[in-house]
Amino acid sequence: MSEEQRFTVSQFGDEVKRILVVAAHPDDLETGSGGTLALLIARGVEVALLLGTDGDIGTHDVSFTRETLAAARQQETLAGAQVLGLKEVFFLGHHDGELVADLALRAEVAGIYRHWQPDTVFTFDPSWAGQAHPDHTAAGRAAVDAYMPSKMELYHPEQLVDGVKVADVKRFFFFGGSNREGEITIDISSAWATKLAATRCHVSQFGQKEEALQWLAAWNHETGKCCGLEYAEAFHPMQVW
Ligand SMILES: [Zn+2]
Repeated sequence: MSEEQRFTVSQFGDEVKRILVVAAHPDDLETGSGGTLALLIARGVEVALLLGTDGDIGTHDVSFTRETLAAARQQETLAGAQVLGLKEVFFLGHHDGELVADLALRAEVAGIYRHWQPDTVFTFDPSWAGQAHPDHTAAGRAAVDAYMPSKMELYHPEQLVDGVKVADVKRFFFFGGSNREGEITIDISSAWATKLAATRCHVSQFGQKEEALQWLAAWNHETGKCCGLEYAEAFHPMQVW
């Protein structure tokens, strides 16, 4: 890798053309990978979001009901997607806090792999021992577990109609890297304003106060420290055999 490619999205390789982000909650994409995705989209990469839950417990404001919160968060998701320039958002609509990587979820994810034909998936590391949110683990688990069956004609053949073909996902990257060996660190300093703008669309989570996203700035600043970068996101590649 040449010196000028270090810390840039060219580390993902030119063969990355369509990325599906498999997330659990409406703000996971922006907080975990919003800067990197903004940079990839600017290069012509197409990005879509597959959202496992509708985020319907994500508040301490009891003036919301689960229904009104889910509706608000769906609008926030679409607003964030528009800021970043996502091609599509797929809502699975499971309840927040109850996402389970069972056979039904595996088939739902496989169906989207087949329908949208991503070559690359971004998701949570399902084996991250420090992951406190079960929905994140479940989203990552289902994303990885759908990989192999989604390629096979005899798996849920009812999905393979109207020109829909078996999936051909080739690579996975887990977000929330932590400077482990082999990770890809992306300098997102130039995309930081876009990441913040997209994240701020999630008003029910972060309001409009500047300090509400200080944790995110601190996280991305910490990730960049290793490499002298102001803001960075890191990704752990999963070896697919
Ligand atoms: Zn989340």
